[in-house]
Amino acid sequence: MDEDRIETRAVHGGERRPGPEGSVVYPIYQGTVYSVPSGTDYHDLRYIRLNSTPSQSYLHDKLAALEGAEAGLATASGMAAITTALHSVLRSGDHLLVGDCLYGGTHDFLTQHAADFGWTFTFIDPHRPETWEAALTAKTKAVLVESITNPLVRVGRLPEVAAFARANGLVSLIDNTFATPVNFRPVTAGFDLVLHSATKYLNGHSDIVAGAVVGDAEHVERARTTSNHFGGTLDPHAGFLLARGLKTLALRVRAQNENALRLAEFLADRPEVAEVNHPGLASHPDHQRASELFDGFGGMLSIRPAGGVSAAQKLIDAVRLPFDAPSLGGVESLITRPAATSHAGMSPQDRLALGVTDDLVRISVGVESPEDLVADFEQALGTL
Ligand SMILES: *Cc1c(COP(=O)(O)O)cnc(C)c1O
Repeated sequence: MDEDRIETRAVHGGERRPGPEGSVVYPIYQGTVYSVPSGTDYHDLRYIRLNSTPSQSYLHDKLAALEGAEAGLATASGMAAITTALHSVLRSGDHLLVGDCLYGGTHDFLTQHAADFGWTFTFIDPHRPETWEAALTAKTKAVLVESITNPLVRVGRLPEVAAFARANGLVSLIDNTFATPVNFRPVTAGFDLVLHSATKYLNGHSDIVAGAVVGDAEHVERARTTSNHFGGTLDPHAGFLLARGLKTLALRVRAQNENALRLAEFLADRPEVAEVNHPGLASHPDHQRASELFDGFGGMLSIRPAGGVSAAQKLIDAVRLPFDAPSLGGVESLITRPAATSHAGMSPQDRLALGVTDDLVRISVGVESPEDLVADFEQALGTL
């Protein structure tokens, strides 16, 4: 199974053959508790919060198969995956290195709560190894980066980050939400723990909240123990929908890769658009690295209209296919102005430092026809 291509793994990875009662589709085990031999270890009791019931184990195997990892754990949200993984590797007094362009929730969790746990952290630039060296202390225990950053879709020196962590005895963690295992498999690149907001591409239908932690058996078991204590377990109904979504992950992401590149190329040629950020464009600063590391450039792009904030808002109002909404990774295209939504919690100075200008528009490209998407943006640009 590990040898199979990602399309095959998405369908067959983790599946039970034969399934219970011969079922081709793994059912929802709703029961909260199961009888087990007396003397079973607490974490191996089959109880729903302990992440050990049949539907949960099935989903864990499916998640692991997709990332080519030994083990997987589903969590109640992407933030539960991130906080659980960090709590499983950091103790009071420990120091963490984190990429300087983080998902807003992760940024806010660290800036507002790390001190409560006795953790310290230093922002590093995943493009500049000298910043990693400079930030390293005797207390540094882990490093956390993102495979593609939001919303400028930058791609750092990811395998070097993992190698740096290994050389210095750090646990390496990566949020692979934007790239998905279809485009990038961090375990192969040397990362210990891969985190996901499964709310996004993994589920792909904008109808559940879920997260995932995958990696080697030892690190994932530690994360499961932490999750069992903190209680952020995924409900089997949401888990069922996630497993269903996973089966079409490769198809969806391939279509999104193609659509986003088509749209980015179209927008880059338009006079109404001053800047297009998409790693598939030769003009993107990380195009070369993304070409080497990734099998596809992803479904996310951001643009800056030539007419500033008012043109940005006009464009968002004028498109007919994308919904005006934050979030990402679903089959429907979404369009949003990060300064007003995903990054609204940040100070204007912090936003500017990251390049999140007020006129920046982010697009999560769906699986609609690329011709229809391009035509829709063409008519919308015509109104500017
Ligand atoms: C959405 C997102 C998260 C948080 O996920 P939730 O499922 O909303 O908790 C974390 N990282 C990235 C990159 C995301 O896009």
